[in-house]
Amino acid sequence: PDQAAQAVRSPARETLHRVFGYDAFRGDQEEIVEHVVAGGDALVLMPTGGGKSLCYQIPALVRPGVGVVISPLIALMQDQVDALRNLGVRAGFLNSTQDFAQRQEVEEAFVAGELDLLYLAPERLSVESTVRLLDRGEVALFAIDEAHCVSQWGHDFRPDYLMLSALHERWPDVPRIALTATATEATHREISARLGLDGARHFVASFDRPNIQYRIVPKNSPQKQLLELLRTEHHGDAGIVYCLSRASVEKTAEFLVQNGITALPYHAGLDKATRARNQARFLREDGLVVVATIAFGMGIDKPDVRFVAHLDLPKSVEGYYQETGRAGRDGLPSTAWLAYGLQDVVQQRKMIDNSEGDEAHRRQQAGHLNAMLALCETVTCRRVRILAYFGQSGEPCGNCDTCLAPPESWDGTVPAQKLLSTVVRLRNERRQQFGAGQIIDILLGKTTPKVTQFRHDTLTVFGIGTELREPDWRAVVRQLLARNLLAVEGDYGSLVLTEGSTGVLNGSQQVMLRREPERAPRAAKASRR
Ligand code: ADP
Ligand code: ZN
Repeated sequence: PDQAAQAVRSPARETLHRVFGYDAFRGDQEEIVEHVVAGGDALVLMPTGGGKSLCYQIPALVRPGVGVVISPLIALMQDQVDALRNLGVRAGFLNSTQDFAQRQEVEEAFVAGELDLLYLAPERLSVESTVRLLDRGEVALFAIDEAHCVSQWGHDFRPDYLMLSALHERWPDVPRIALTATATEATHREISARLGLDGARHFVASFDRPNIQYRIVPKNSPQKQLLELLRTEHHGDAGIVYCLSRASVEKTAEFLVQNGITALPYHAGLDKATRARNQARFLREDGLVVVATIAFGMGIDKPDVRFVAHLDLPKSVEGYYQETGRAGRDGLPSTAWLAYGLQDVVQQRKMIDNSEGDEAHRRQQAGHLNAMLALCETVTCRRVRILAYFGQSGEPCGNCDTCLAPPESWDGTVPAQKLLSTVVRLRNERRQQFGAGQIIDILLGKTTPKVTQFRHDTLTVFGIGTELREPDWRAVVRQLLARNLLAVEGDYGSLVLTEGSTGVLNGSQQVMLRREPERAPRAAKASRR
């Protein structure tokens, strides 16, 4: 029966083979395509790399008329259109980067029905002439890409997206397909409500990426740790290394090059030509490493990225998932590796405190950061935690670092009390605040110049913490920060108490901490699927 079904190819399948050269649809793609071809509305939630584009490109080719794609990624439109043209698809775009003549050419092609796909920046639709233009041609469907941009609670909110609810009023017979890789229930509902997608069918793909091994390690000397990872497990592999700042991108790329690894920097501070050249080399050449800020990767479509490494803590689980999701699109074993340290927490809390925007915005950012920290400090399966974050469930994966080498949890109540007491002492006696480094030196009884200068060696708490080593103390501080039992304040990252500290200090709250396994597990490469 299967063969018989194959023999009678649907127009969608036929297009998949002939135009895109693929053998079969993936996941829900076929159902989505058929639904839209038949004129139905759809809301598609699929992780990055899942194959959302085909879900509207094929219906656009199968249905009469032009598929109109609303996308906020103006910088990518040229690439997307070029890629389609290479496949023989008649595609064009309209956005603010074009001059009058270029726009006119696309508009004429649209009206003449000489296009299969037209990419539009959302702000185009608030221009009356664009609306009139669409009336003069035949629209096959509206695809609303990055549909989460309509959510006012998300970080990618675009006011222009709110106008898109008007599409349905003006063109009630044209099917709409909204697509996003953001899966939280709340965003989901908001997209549906704001775009007026009441009758739309929902397609929710799994966010599980079984071929990605998630690993989060304490950050000691990040560059060396990274080099070790590349040398031992990813020799000659293509990969992406994410850093938070342009300066650290530059330094890390240089460091890798000095150590014989072909690495290129990528960040918004580089001129456009250099960025384009580095990106093109990454896509074309084998085994290249790009060191980048998060500016890199939107729309990057390279199937054999074997690792994604983070040298700084991502700001949210969404961001982390999206960035790590660029690894292993070909389904082969890949590594998502993150080095995370105390300084990350201090720095990011500081950035949130100093950020512009109102209190609600800051609270939201703090919430995102806390979820990310909870993922870092979890003693259970990372993959299960990630899925749970997106509202999906799963079994322990047996492949992530916590599954392979389960961290112990230990009773850290007494060390936590010692640490918090030291913070209290410093505050009481000197009316001055100090960062984690100084506090740990005091606990360990180290007579550094700064300890001597402030006479911290005379405090009763001096040297009361020698039962732990310095990295252990850093882990204690990190975890207390992650749970809001301790906070940082001011430009120097001074440690201060929180409301939660009281319970720890008076013994009413026990503090269970995560102990790092002695040696981080080596990748169980290719051992699973
Ligand atoms: P998304 O937009 O969801 O991030 P894309 O549409 O860019 O994902 O697709 C990711 C990659 O998967 C692309 O290289 C695409 O060509 C490929 N792809 C999508 N669908 C299929 C399929 N059915 N068969 C083979 N490759 C596919
Ligand atoms: Zn796991």
